[in-house]
Amino acid sequence: MRVRRDLERMVDEQIRARKVRDERVLQAMLRVPRHRFVGEAMRHRAYDDCPLPIGDGQTISQPYIVARMLELLALRGDETVLEIGAGSGYQTALLALLTRRVVALERIGSLALTARRRLEALEIPNAAVICADGTLGWSQEAPYDAILVAAGAPEVPSMLMEQLVDGGRLVVPVGGREIQDLMIYTRRGDRFEEGNDGGCRFVPLIGRYGWEDAR
Ligand code: SAH
Repeated sequence: MRVRRDLERMVDEQIRARKVRDERVLQAMLRVPRHRFVGEAMRHRAYDDCPLPIGDGQTISQPYIVARMLELLALRGDETVLEIGAGSGYQTALLALLTRRVVALERIGSLALTARRRLEALEIPNAAVICADGTLGWSQEAPYDAILVAAGAPEVPSMLMEQLVDGGRLVVPVGGREIQDLMIYTRRGDRFEEGNDGGCRFVPLIGRYGWEDAR
């Protein structure tokens, strides 16, 4: 009961209140127990209006930005989606409820393993978490109907654009190491329509076509 209340409050006060209207996204958020995607020590803060540490210097994103990115993808339910930066696996779980198939890439092996176990424990069958450099995309299951990047890129990795179907959408934070703009690219043949949803703050996208690892 407590979890149900926490979820309803989170969705009403953080997501609906900030004008996310996609009813499928709102319903999916009510179904995924966010506290299952953070460590024991962070559990009491799992429904707070902020990102939280998940280890290895990474974070589970703020609920609102997760909802906003999902809304921007305009999913209908039959898509194959590529996610870059699975992290905790929380957004992966939501994508799995909203689409047919999710391929989620995570460069840190321990995070990928934990995310995979959590999805298994919640009996989510249609998402695969793979430890790989997401700036290269994942050609094995390309092209994708939608691609979501959950880490800030210095520029859009061109391989992600190449792995998108015609009419498909790519949502990606692009900008500096600390702050970025949340960009939306819609493929129209060989061209891309570009939209900007405004400022955001993500951990850096590290990899071959991302930032260098500063650690
Ligand atoms: N949506 C996730 C966000 C996690 S933070 C959540 O809410 O839990 C972003 C994640 O992107 C981090 O776990 C980081 O390790 C990962 N990442 C950064 N660069 C990457 C790359 N090139 N390929 C795959 N994952 C990457």
